[in-house]
Order: sequence, then structure tokens, then C-alpha cells
Amino acid sequence: MRRVRLKGSGMTSDRTRERMVEGLKNNGIRDRRVLAALKKIPRHIFVDEAMASRAYENTALPIGLGQTLSQPYIVARMTEEVLNGKRLKKVLEVGTGSGYQAAILSELVVQVYSVERIEKLMKLARSRFMALGIRNIRLKHSDGHWGWPDYGQYDGIVVTAAPEEIPQELLGQLAIGGRLIIPVGGSRNQQLQVVTRTVQEYELEIKENVSFVPLVEGHQ
Ligand code: SAH
Repeated sequence: MRRVRLKGSGMTSDRTRERMVEGLKNNGIRDRRVLAALKKIPRHIFVDEAMASRAYENTALPIGLGQTLSQPYIVARMTEEVLNGKRLKKVLEVGTGSGYQAAILSELVVQVYSVERIEKLMKLARSRFMALGIRNIRLKHSDGHWGWPDYGQYDGIVVTAAPEEIPQELLGQLAIGGRLIIPVGGSRNQQLQVVTRTVQEYELEIKENVSFVPLVEGHQ
């Protein structure tokens, strides 16, 4: 098993994390539960050790295999959007990556499901959850275009890689009242979109411009 350092010091301390959360508040993150989760989960555990000292800056960081962990602001925004002030039971994430977004969600919902197309990243994320004692995240190695039908429908779906168009399967796995938070577009022109399923239809809201790695077909 891979060893992960749990007790940070200096640049990875609680105070550094508190400063990060102050910055998020100044940038308009309001949901107290979300802010508390970002304060609690040690982000430096989810990045390469060489990057640990930068873990609490508001920047995206490399997590290996050409993938990136989004900046804390985007993680907070997407979490706030999916919760929408409610208490949710089941949330699906597409694109586990480092596992950080899933760990934040695990603080706020009953059960998190997350799919990742790169097996190595999925296994690393799993070892981090074990080291942190997080038990309510279930992981699967697969292409997230198909969602994870076995456990649907979900109260929320968070996609952390960008497709050109919203995959139909994900819409079908959304419960009534549920929200899908997804970056949509090509590498230079992506927008965060929020789809809410109502009894009759799906409502689409277009939010801010964002920059995510592409949602890639197939798994490896
Ligand atoms: N939520 C992650 C962000 C990781 S970056 C975190 O908190 O660290 C996006 C991730 O999506 C990458 O790990 C990438 O491998 C994964 N990904 C890309 N296309 C995918 C697909 N079709 N299915 C599942 N995961 C995918």
C-alpha cells in the first residue's frame, strides 16, 4: 500500500487551509457546509508530494497521467451547485482523478459514487480514502459517458471532465429534482452547465466559463 502523509506542517497546516477558505468566501462561495468540508479535507494528500506546498493556492494542480485537480474555487462552486442548499443521499461523480472532489462530496452527502477511466488514478484515490478513513465513496473503473446505471437514479451528478455535448445516459440517471453539473465544450471554449430534471422536462442553465480536461471515450 502507498503511504500518505496525514499530518501536515507549515504550508500544509490547518491555518493554511483556513486562509484558502477565507479566499473562497471572498470569491462568493456562500454555503457553510461546503466551506466546512473544504476546511476539513486535507487537499495536499490528493496531489503529488512535490506539489504539496502549493496545495492550498487557488490553482489547478497536476495529478499525473496528464490530468489535473481543479482549483479549490471550482470544486467549491460545483459542490455548491449540486447541493443547491439541500441534503442529498446519492451523488455520482464522473472523473475521480485524485479523489479530492469525491472526498469533499463524501462530507456532505450520504453516499458518493465515482467513475474513472484511468485505473491507476482510481486505485490511488482509493488508497487516499482508506488512509483518511473515508468509507462512503464507491469507485468504478469505466467510461463515465455511461454513468453508473446500477445505483441510479442520483440526486446529483458532477462531471469533472468536459464533453462536447451532454451524454444522454447521464440525463437518464438523474432523479426528478436532481441536478447535473457539467462543463461542456471544446478545449478553448467551455461553460459550466447545470441541468435540473423536473417531472416534465430538463431545465438548462449556463454558468461561467471554465477549463477542464476533455471527457475521453473508453477506459484504460
Ligand atoms: N474530480 C477530479 C478531477 C480530475 S480531472 C479531482 O478531484 O481530482 C478529470 C478526470 O476525469 C481525469 O482523472 C480523467 O482521467 C477523467 N476522465 C476523463 N474522461 C473520462 C471518462 N470518459 N470517464 C471517466 N473518467 C474520465
